[in-house]
Amino acid sequence: MTVKVRFAPSPTGYLHVGNVRTALVNWLFARQSGGHFVLRVDDTDTQRSETKYNDAIREDLAWLGLNWDSEEHQSKRFERYSLAAQTLVAQGRLYACYETPEELDVQRKMQASRGLPPIYNRAGLKLTEEQKAAYEQKGRNPHYRFLLNDEEMTWDDLIRGHVAMRASTMSDPVLLREDGGPVYTLASVVDDGEMEITHVIRGEDHVSNTAVQVQLYNALGFAVPRFAHMALLKTKEGEMSKRLGGNDIRSLRKAGILPMALDSLLARMGTSDPALPFAELKPLVESFDFAKFGRAPANYDVGELEKINEKLLHQLPFEAVAPQFDFIDEQFWLSIRANIKKLEDVRQWWDILNEAVSADLNDDEWAFIRSTVALLPENPWDDATWDTWLSAIKPTTPRTGKLLFMPLRLALTGREHGPELKKLLPLLGREQVLQRLKGQ
Ligand code: GLU
Repeated sequence: MTVKVRFAPSPTGYLHVGNVRTALVNWLFARQSGGHFVLRVDDTDTQRSETKYNDAIREDLAWLGLNWDSEEHQSKRFERYSLAAQTLVAQGRLYACYETPEELDVQRKMQASRGLPPIYNRAGLKLTEEQKAAYEQKGRNPHYRFLLNDEEMTWDDLIRGHVAMRASTMSDPVLLREDGGPVYTLASVVDDGEMEITHVIRGEDHVSNTAVQVQLYNALGFAVPRFAHMALLKTKEGEMSKRLGGNDIRSLRKAGILPMALDSLLARMGTSDPALPFAELKPLVESFDFAKFGRAPANYDVGELEKINEKLLHQLPFEAVAPQFDFIDEQFWLSIRANIKKLEDVRQWWDILNEAVSADLNDDEWAFIRSTVALLPENPWDDATWDTWLSAIKPTTPRTGKLLFMPLRLALTGREHGPELKKLLPLLGREQVLQRLKGQ
């Protein structure tokens, strides 16, 4: 049996770390088993779906290296859903209901006041043809519910193990809305069935949908796929929005996060394997195993993402950054890459090394700076040059701490903050340092 999986995002917003993890796990499993990965755009909600989000999803997946073997759009398959609905009506498993949302709300409140669970009372099932005609005359369109069999629904989940749920604890789900449009549950099952999806891998917020969907696959004569429900990610919203501008993939990309940093972290999150910085997806494909997934919610920690990102940056070859920073050369990149935290920091180093500096210093400070020139170590320069120079300067001046190094930093870089001076000196080189110390 060839493995076939799908990632089914709704184009109602940008992908965030939670969706990407679902996409990634589907992709890793497909690639490991030589299977097929479908991008299935869940756009039955035509009101809220937008082309710009659809494009963004494709762009973000491609950026993350998650290629898809085929693409489907639910909005192009409405006919298939209405055919399936007709089959269910013919079986007596889909029935018309006329309650308004307000009426359903009143029902639920009455149930709650009597201590009963909010389960739909199946009033629609008992309506006579005359009663239905009367509703329609009043201008009410029906919505349709799926009649659940009162049986235990079970499956062997690849992550959660044996799962059993009784239908009597659930309301008959609505499959067609008042406007005749299919809801997610129906569209998803028809697609999984007709596209011969073998494994449905998604978040555990879908476990109760699965219970209903198992009956629906059976009613429609489809093979029931295998399921894997992942424990959800716990994110610390506030902290994330502050540090990296949000937890959607676009913001993370803008903040300089590398695609492999996200892939490395999200592939291992909630598993027994450590999240390590991987420069390519291959080792993640090879080590993927459902048995390694735990049942406890996984903590998404933006600090961990930044750490992995930093480690990846430090090993990144010049070719990987050259297209984005066409003004730098390989030597420059290799000299600074170990000292940057984010890709954007490249610009800061470049500016300091290449832009004319103007430092706002007083006569006293310039006098001090000039006195250090003669103490400047001879070539060759390396990471130790700054310390050697400082040791030579200290006995010649009453200045210490900030009073000592700040005038030098300002003269050399024109700013109060920036990369460490011990790293900057060898990059600037003796000639340029001399010039800047002379205020040129
Ligand atoms: N569009 C649904 C979601 O994003 C898909 C769920 C599924 O995988 O069946 O939650």
